[in-house]
Amino acid sequence: GLAPANAGVKTACPYCGVGCGIVATPRPDGAVDIGGDAEHPANFGRLCSKGSALGETLDLDDRLLVPEIDGQRASWDAALARVAETFSATIAAHGPDSVALYVSGQLLTEDYYVANKLMKGFVGSANIDTNSRLCMASSVAGHVRAFGSDTVPGAYEDLETADLVVLVGSNLAWCHPVLFQRLAAAKAGRGTRIVTIDPRATASSEASDLHLAVAPDSDVALFAGLLDHLEREGCADRAYIEAHTRDAEPALAAARACGLAGAAAATGIDEHRLAAFYRLWAGTPRVVTVYSQGVNQSVVGTDKVSAIINCHLFTGRIGRAGAGPFSVTGQPNAMGGREVGGLANMLAAHMSLADPGHRDLVQRFWRSPVIADRPGLKAVDMFRAVADGRIKALWIMSTNPADSLPKADAAVAALANCPFVVVSDIVRTDTTRHAHVLLPAAGWGEKSGTVTNSERRISRQRAFLAPPGEARADWRIICDVAARMGFAEAFAFASEAEVFREHAALSAHGNDGSRDFDIGGLADLGDAAYADLAPVQWPRARTTAAPEGPIRLFADGGFFTADRRARFVATPLAPARAADPRFPLILNTGRIRDQWHTMTRTGKSPRLMGHLAEPLCEIHPADAAAHAIATASLVQLESPHGTMLARALVTERQRRGSVFAAMHWTDQFAAKGRVDALVDDAVDPVSGQPGLKGSAVRIQPF
Ligand code: SF4
Repeated sequence: GLAPANAGVKTACPYCGVGCGIVATPRPDGAVDIGGDAEHPANFGRLCSKGSALGETLDLDDRLLVPEIDGQRASWDAALARVAETFSATIAAHGPDSVALYVSGQLLTEDYYVANKLMKGFVGSANIDTNSRLCMASSVAGHVRAFGSDTVPGAYEDLETADLVVLVGSNLAWCHPVLFQRLAAAKAGRGTRIVTIDPRATASSEASDLHLAVAPDSDVALFAGLLDHLEREGCADRAYIEAHTRDAEPALAAARACGLAGAAAATGIDEHRLAAFYRLWAGTPRVVTVYSQGVNQSVVGTDKVSAIINCHLFTGRIGRAGAGPFSVTGQPNAMGGREVGGLANMLAAHMSLADPGHRDLVQRFWRSPVIADRPGLKAVDMFRAVADGRIKALWIMSTNPADSLPKADAAVAALANCPFVVVSDIVRTDTTRHAHVLLPAAGWGEKSGTVTNSERRISRQRAFLAPPGEARADWRIICDVAARMGFAEAFAFASEAEVFREHAALSAHGNDGSRDFDIGGLADLGDAAYADLAPVQWPRARTTAAPEGPIRLFADGGFFTADRRARFVATPLAPARAADPRFPLILNTGRIRDQWHTMTRTGKSPRLMGHLAEPLCEIHPADAAAHAIATASLVQLESPHGTMLARALVTERQRRGSVFAAMHWTDQFAAKGRVDALVDDAVDPVSGQPGLKGSAVRIQPF
């Protein structure tokens, strides 16, 4: 039941991977007061501009209120039946790999769990992927390569106890603002040094002691050069390396081949400046290397992650207070999605699709008729398969690929040609236009479940509003479709608490200590205890619902490879890509401070829209002069895939040869404002994550 008006409800922010706790207080007039939860260990009461404006985004304008079939209002019964019958008929005619789910880091863990269970255990295909593929798949792949598991070793408080924090490809001040506030407070209080590594100057670099404006995608060379420096300067933690790792030599050989000179050449940073950074890193045992989309959204993203982790393994600076590599995720529940295995190359509970033992274990636990036994299609490949007709039925949940996928116009064309598209969402978007069946989902504040933030902390999202119209929770919609496909028994969940208990039980099932993700201590939570669940960080929840114990992993080894040793990974430098004189600039894309995704929520807030009111293209003065671009003029950006219009911001904050444009705008908010229409769809070969920050473009006055 919902709390009475004027009673504060503790929940979690729906925007970013910091996972701040919020107290939402509905007022009798229908408005909702939003405040930070002073007891939540992610934010201790702080909120950023986006979180604190949540109350302005809860109106019902544009909300989907009833199911639709072919654009006509339909009953839930008819809509669910159409989805189930069409998916079942497609599978019967063309096999399980002819259907797919494309889901979202906005889903709650319980939604994600049943979606993954349906596809992998009952449809029998791993064709379920997520917009998290665009966000942090390279971190997942880098973790698994090094640790044998997708484990984030550290915790937020490490940013407060470190003596040096290196932000790589992260504008933490704008993209994870509350975590940045914690870091800034530590800097003010104890003099933490901050280094920012980013091709452009940002609010984060302004607050840093050192900014290395590296060339795009040169991070592998930067960290290979650091590893070489660490070896030369005798910084190896030999005891740690010998006891807990393998394969250092090939990684060191690649690092030596790069060296300081190679790193300087690749990054465009002079050797003295680079060496100063290397000396600082080498001489500071308490160092946290925070990395985000500038690392992940790259065709060499997994190697970037490996190059960073290598340096931490080499010095034993991992899993200790104030030390470790630290991936911060974009979305509120990217981590929960990883925990349920909601990616095309994962199974469930951090188990492996490639491991027959894991497959058998999961299949027995689910009592499922079939289990997917090979990776499914990752996001970019999934939409290619939609385009060429291999995928004949696609269900999109809580995400807007028509605007957010690379080569977005090609994604639109693929959707337009797909024989059967289902979309579950809370508002109309450029994606819902293509839905044969449209399902109204409950939104933030109306649905209930759990999310996991970037430091492995599981928090409750709680409902404080009734879903409008006929909107329903995603987990229930998925279970209702599964039941109509003939799987009623396995999806007979009466509540999100029941789903969570099964998820927690599966995480512990057959775990002899060889798996990292284990929240078995939460498997027996009663409904009331689930309702009241306080934020809990794994691995603490392994054996008891009231846990204590370590909040970090790997300080003493104990990795999740077969021999419990971490692996160094050699990261040879990729050849520089050939320049295309027709498209001489590199397009970097990213977030701005006050917007979220494709603005479906933040676009409703006047004060958030007031920050930057239209799409901007940041360009260096020399490039602007070369292309006759005047400050504040309208420009057209063009790639082989599409065009966009933006307002020129001529600034030396931008690196020469690169331009920057925000990812948020759609045609709804600015004509021809969709940056992903320009973005190339080349992917990292290991993670399948597209290089969203490295497309070749040209610019001209409009
Ligand atoms: Fe929400 Fe992230 Fe801001 Fe916290 S930092 S209030 S989780 S958007």
